[in-house]
Amino acid sequence: MLRLRRRPVLLLLSLALAALLAPLSAHAAAPAFDAVAETEKLLATLPAEARARSDAYFEGTYWLLLWNLVAALVAAGLLLVTGLAARIRNWAERVFKKRILQVAACVLVLLALDAVIRLPLDYYEGYVREHTYGLSNHTLGGWARDWLVGQIAGAVMTTPLLVLLYAVLRRWPLVWWSRAALATPFLLVVLMAISPVFLAPLFNSYRPLADASLREPILSLARANGIPAENVWQFDASKQTKRISANVSGALGTTRIALNDNLLNRCTPAEIRAVMAHEMGHYVLNHTYKMAIFFGLVIAAGFAFTAWSIGFVLRRYGAAWGLRGLDDPAGLPLLTGLLAVYFFATTPVTKSIIRLQESEADLFGLNAAREPDGFATTALKLGEYRKLAPGPLEEIIFFDHPSGRTRVLMAMRWKAEHPELFTK
Ligand SMILES: [Zn+2]
Repeated sequence: MLRLRRRPVLLLLSLALAALLAPLSAHAAAPAFDAVAETEKLLATLPAEARARSDAYFEGTYWLLLWNLVAALVAAGLLLVTGLAARIRNWAERVFKKRILQVAACVLVLLALDAVIRLPLDYYEGYVREHTYGLSNHTLGGWARDWLVGQIAGAVMTTPLLVLLYAVLRRWPLVWWSRAALATPFLLVVLMAISPVFLAPLFNSYRPLADASLREPILSLARANGIPAENVWQFDASKQTKRISANVSGALGTTRIALNDNLLNRCTPAEIRAVMAHEMGHYVLNHTYKMAIFFGLVIAAGFAFTAWSIGFVLRRYGAAWGLRGLDDPAGLPLLTGLLAVYFFATTPVTKSIIRLQESEADLFGLNAAREPDGFATTALKLGEYRKLAPGPLEEIIFFDHPSGRTRVLMAMRWKAEHPELFTK
């Protein structure tokens, strides 16, 4: 009796429950793509040992920021405290009559000595450490050649600018920093414009993308985004490094997108398309020019800091170091030392400026290539040399590109919102 009477009630109750749960069970039958879970799944594909190595390598770069500051200050200190900088200026004054040549000679010798003092750290950072972590293909001879060429190219470009700076320091001792700051964004654009034409070929050979099967989809992507086809190149980075990489360089008509050969050899067509679309993002979003403005502002503040602090140091130690004043080129190590302190302190700002642009290019790339899986697996490959999952503050302070986890999550979030494009 009891059972008979209760049956219809139970039946009704279970029917009502079934009706209520219907949307949920339909949901359970076809679960939504869970971006966070997919991200964790992808991150877990990297072996723990490889991840520990990459973490150690990347965390080493945090310390290198400090060691590079120490090296810059040791170099500046040695040149100033020993009176060597003042003696070099005296020598330049004896040898040359014109002030412009005296300044140029003094600056050039000081730059050369600074490079020699810093060579041991450069050698450790650029050669020893890269080999220790299995990231380098460089021979010692090749590394030494690139180092020397880099120093010479740097000196050739920097010397005229420093001669100009010392003329400004002499003409406007009080407001030199604002004049120099005004000129900086324009100089940065010029530097970026000549970089792919004169600098990059000193280290690598560039040629139009050779593989026709890759070329066509990439050029199609370029055309779709208003980028001239002749601006897509490949270069032989494998003689220096095992890293996969691509970049956008140039300005004022020299702009080009270049893929390195490691990327071409180690990545799938989908991954290459994802990377290229990211690089096209830098191009289309005019990051070169925005960078000139942002960095122009950072450098302007750096000049202001230097103008303020250099007076203090000169008053206190100038005579002891044989410096005659602000416009004395023998004071160059002091100028560069103070700027080194400034750039060390503003590391989180400069890293974040670059990282935010990288983030923009990431999103542009996802929307343009529509290859979230290719983008995610490439981010994992970059995890060979960039810590995959840092803390939030760590990422802000030390990362000039989004971390692997941030990028994979971004890709999976994009994928979750485009179910129509994927069978899974
Ligand atoms: Zn980028």
